[in-house]
Amino acid sequence: MKTSTLSKRSHTKSESLWEKAKRLIPGGVNSPVRSFKEVGGVPLFVEKGFGSKLYDADGNAYIDYVMGWGPLILGHANPEVIEALHKAFLKGSAFGAPTQQEVELARLLCEAVPSLEKVRLVNSGTEAAMTALRLARACTKREKVLKFQGCYHGHVDQMLVEAGSGALTHSVPDSAGLPSGTLETTRVVPYNDLSKVKALFEKEGETIACIMVEPVAANMGVIPPKPGFLEGLRDITKAYGSLLIFDEVLTGFRLSKGGAQEKYGITSDLTMLGKIIGGGLPIGAVGGRSDIMALLSPEGPVYQAGTLSGNSLSVAAGVATLNILSRKNVYETLEAKGIFLENLFKGEFKRKGIPGCVNRAGSLLSPFFGLGKAECFQNLKAMDKEMHKTFFHGSLEEGLYFPPSPFEAFFLSLSHSEEDLARTGEGVRKVFDTL
Ligand code: PLP
Repeated sequence: MKTSTLSKRSHTKSESLWEKAKRLIPGGVNSPVRSFKEVGGVPLFVEKGFGSKLYDADGNAYIDYVMGWGPLILGHANPEVIEALHKAFLKGSAFGAPTQQEVELARLLCEAVPSLEKVRLVNSGTEAAMTALRLARACTKREKVLKFQGCYHGHVDQMLVEAGSGALTHSVPDSAGLPSGTLETTRVVPYNDLSKVKALFEKEGETIACIMVEPVAANMGVIPPKPGFLEGLRDITKAYGSLLIFDEVLTGFRLSKGGAQEKYGITSDLTMLGKIIGGGLPIGAVGGRSDIMALLSPEGPVYQAGTLSGNSLSVAAGVATLNILSRKNVYETLEAKGIFLENLFKGEFKRKGIPGCVNRAGSLLSPFFGLGKAECFQNLKAMDKEMHKTFFHGSLEEGLYFPPSPFEAFFLSLSHSEEDLARTGEGVRKVFDTL
């Protein structure tokens, strides 16, 4: 990409599409984070993506660090994924009947992810969370569930809780429209705070069905688990007969082929997957111990179903993606790109004397403006959102598309080239000079 294509951007088409979209779609978007609410301004209307680049409706090019919010670990429009999709589409896309390819995807998932003995495909991470919760409650015959502040598990009613400072108290809903009793069985504890988890279990452990956790939190920016945190969750759930559910919708096949559970060597009872396993098409999955999975209908009494579950396009894109991720040095390459970005931001905070820190787990990364450390949601309250905003808009002008929210991770892909990274370094340094 020529540097000249990255400056002096017109956004007139995006602006006019935005006006139209707001008349027809609530808030102008089909998912809230796309709206630039945190940073202000008009969202880019995307025309197409190739490899690491995104092109907007005005013809501007950007190096993309959002990557569809995670699924596109190979980059946009990967030729092998397109070929697999093309072949699959020629044979039809939805049969409402079992297929050989979905068995192949299940095999690839069970082989790669340590906790998976059996897996059920669904259509989104949200559906995976719904099913995992239902399974945990049926399995333990208990109702309460524990989640962590700042972790996101899709828009499932019982998980839509933002805990206030009294994290051990009953939860406060994060959305209107929830029936009054919905959150009675939800408990929220600060991420990385094992002592609070222990205290809660001492009080209510016998009635807690499960802990659901992002093993690396990545929906409040990236916050890796402190040493001993995941091990502690495993020990506590075992001691109290509760289930441990890893939400690996984001970390699955991103941190390693076996996700965070392989990286940290801790096995959950149930695991939720999504994003990468559909290669950019809609998908989700819940899997785990076969005795628990046997509770699912039609084998067992826990009902779960889906018209398009395991549809052949998502499955084809998923199988093609996972096969590419099986090649040599994939995760080493992603790690090296992650290290480059981490060093870039750390270096810029230091060079400019701007307070800030960088958290990273493999190819997931977050620079936090204004913070000395980011270990839990509480730490993020001191974030310098104004500086993030200036950084975001300055980066757009430099042809760099970073997440339009300070609470989201940057996503790298295999398609980010050395040239992209060098250009990113150049752009980020220029933007830091304006902060
Ligand atoms: N779990 C995690 C960790 C996620 O990051 C997300 C989405 O970003 C979800 C669940 C929900 O997935 P979906 O948006 O596919 O419903």
